[in-house]
Formats: sequence, structure tokens, C-alpha cells
Amino acid sequence: MDFELNDEQEMLRKSARDFLESECPKSVVKQLEESDSGYSPQLWKKMAQLGWMGILIPEEYGGVGWTLIEEAILFEEFGRAAMPGPMFATLTGTLVVLESAAEGLKKNLLPQVAAGDLVLTLAIDEPEAVCDTRFVVTRAARKGGAYALSGTKLFVPYAHVAGWMLVVGRTAGSPGDGKGIAVFAVDGKAPGISLAAMKTFAHDKQFQVDFDGVPVSPSHAVRKPGGIVPMIKPVLEKATAVQCASMVGGAQKELEMTAEYTKQRVQFGRPIGTFQAVQHRLADMFIDVQGARWTTYQAVWRLSQGMPAAREVAIAKAVTGRACQRVAFSAQQLHGGIGVDIDSELHFYYLREKALELALGTPADHLKALSAMIGT
Ligand SMILES: Cc1cc2nc3c(=O)[nH]c(=O)nc-3n(C[C@H](O)[C@H](O)[C@H](O)COP(=O)(O)OP(=O)(O)OC[C@H]3O[C@@H](n4cnc5c(N)ncnc54)[C@H](O)[C@@H]3O)c2cc1C
Repeated sequence: MDFELNDEQEMLRKSARDFLESECPKSVVKQLEESDSGYSPQLWKKMAQLGWMGILIPEEYGGVGWTLIEEAILFEEFGRAAMPGPMFATLTGTLVVLESAAEGLKKNLLPQVAAGDLVLTLAIDEPEAVCDTRFVVTRAARKGGAYALSGTKLFVPYAHVAGWMLVVGRTAGSPGDGKGIAVFAVDGKAPGISLAAMKTFAHDKQFQVDFDGVPVSPSHAVRKPGGIVPMIKPVLEKATAVQCASMVGGAQKELEMTAEYTKQRVQFGRPIGTFQAVQHRLADMFIDVQGARWTTYQAVWRLSQGMPAAREVAIAKAVTGRACQRVAFSAQQLHGGIGVDIDSELHFYYLREKALELALGTPADHLKALSAMIGT
């Protein structure tokens, strides 16, 4: 394996970093977090013009047609900038459509996503079905020539700005049996949808979404032979790997901020960075960031090649989730009292890294999955 980036990938990284540093400084991050929408449509459009919304979308649907590696490079920069917004929600929705949707739905949705005219989101979790689609209760009942979708979804990111939602529901069977489950593309403005904002500690936007007989055309039901698991598994693997890249970007930034701070902060007559105890802690942060980065790149690279990567994704999330927590703790500690101040920029990272550690399976969940895969 060669994880050296090629010229095009280096250019993407550099242009993303420059763009986000100038367009999304921490003052903008704070402003967006406090806004109702949680993102800037103007910034979104600019990012789309740079091709960022269509990285995975083939050129025939208006995208750039790159790979998961370029997507991960971009998300590493989003993580570094602590940028708020529905980028990840749209990516997960896009992955579902790309992996399994019929041609008509692809032609309808993907060009709009690539152009920056459409935000997507994916609605999986329910009160009785967290992280396991087999237990989904949301039902799509056949009503005349259409489906009527009814049920409750939780933790749906950026549902309030999503033009379309990809909603996991069942046409048959009962919770636990995994039968009759599909993903339904639902117009975000369809009658029968109600939203309630959920409180989140990382200030991202998540919603409880209630569907009450929401009409869905049969052509908007996304299915794959073999059921929901073979359809949703590749989506979640890719999403998890990209999420890890975002965490790596945040941890790298915390490391750099802390290294710089310890060079400037003088206590006991010398910069605290000259104390061996501080140096050891920074060295451990560096090792953690590197470990998270390489396990993540390994998973991303395998997925980009179409190779099986369930083990590598589990390793990446288990390593990255824990490593980024240690980095966040050390960054706080080495900043002393000012790291605790709510106005410190470290807070953006500390809170996001914690939220991402818990999303799409905790490190403990992934270690359990890994243990089952290697037969221990
Ligand atoms: C919530 C809160 C409440 C507080 N309340 C009070 C209060 O009521 N009264 C009050 O007087 N103060 C208060 N403080 C301040 C607190 O006492 C200081 O934050 C603390 O003593 C650390 O000092 P510092 O922030 O200057 O960190 P620094 O001295 O700048 O140290 C930063 C970090 O560098 C490292 N470090 C520094 N020196 C060494 C060394 N020699 N060897 C190894 N590592 C080193 C440590 O990891 C340390 O955490 C409060 C702080 C907080 C966060």
C-alpha cells in the first residue's frame, strides 16, 4: 500500500484547507452553530461549484466521479475546520442512492446534489431500533398506487433542510425478522411529516421525524436482492470510514494548536513545552493522531478499491474513536485553565470528537464486531 497522495489529491487538500480557512473561520463556525439552519446555503453553493458535493457522483449525473479517497481528504479538512452543516448527512443519502437506487431516482436526485441544490439525509434509527435495521418498525403500507409511510425516526441529521430523506421502512414482516425492509426516498415537504429538534451537545442539528401516512411513489422505493443488510452495510462502512477521516482532521488541528500553545505559554520562567512531562504528552498525541490516520486511510483505500473492508472499518473506528478522545483530553489539559473556557476554540473540537466517537457505533461496538469477525 502506498498512502502518498497524488498531485490531484494534494491539490484538493490544499484548496479545501485554503477555502475553509478563509470562508469558514471560527467566527463563522460559531455563527452557523447558533443559526436555525445550522449551515450557510451560500457557502454550500460555493462548495458545490468547487465540485465537492459531487465527488462520488459519476460525471453522467453531473458529479466529478472521484473515489472515496478524495471524499475522505475533503472530510478530513471539514473536521480540521470544525465546519458545521449537512455535508455528512448528504453524503450518506448520496451513498444510498448511488449503491442501490433505480436509474430514474439517480437521474432525479444526483444532479441536484452535485449542483448544490439539494441536501439529503438518511433516517435509520427509531426508538426501538438503534443501529440495527432489522428491528425497524416504520411501515410502508400499500395504499392505491402508492405507499403510505408511518413511523418515528430519531437522530435524523439536518432533516429541517433536507429536500429529500432516505427513510428505512418495512412493507412486510415484523421487527427483528429483517424481512420486507427497503429505503424510501421521501420528499422532505410531503404532507404528513412533522419535525421536532433534538438537543445535541456538539450543536449539530438532529431531529425526531414523525411520518403519518406520508405518500411515497413505488418508484421511490430503493431495494436490493437479499434485503436491507447487503444494501445498507456498504453505505455504513463507507460513511464510517469518512467519519473517521473527519475525526482525524479535528485531532490533527488540536495537536497543532496545543503544540503552538505550549511554545508560547511561559510558567515557572520557561515555556511549558520545555517540560518533559508536557513533551511526553504531546508525543502521545502525535502517535494517536498517526494511528488514527493510518487505520482510517487503510479502510478508505480498501473501500475505494471495492475490496472487502468490514474488518478495517471496525479497526479504524475503534482506534480513531479512542485515540481522538485521548488527544482531546490532552489538548484540554495542556491548555490549563483557558482550555476549559467555553470561548476557547478547543471546545468546537472536544465536543465534535465526542459526538463522532459515539455516532455510527462506539469503539466498543466496533471491537465487538471485530471480535466476531476474527472468531474470538
Ligand atoms: C473551572 C476552573 C475554576 C478555577 N477556579 C479558580 C479559583 O477559584 N481560584 C484560582 O486562583 N484559580 C482558579 N482556577 C485556575 C486554576 O488554578 C489554574 O487553571 C490551574 O492552576 C492551572 O494553571 P494554568 O491554567 O495557568 O495552567 P498552566 O500553568 O499554563 O499549565 C498548563 C498545563 O501545562 C502543564 N504544566 C505546567 N507546568 C508544568 C510543569 N512544571 N511540569 C509539567 N507540566 C506542567 C500541565 O499539564 C498544565 O495543565 C480555576 C480553573 C478552572 C478551570
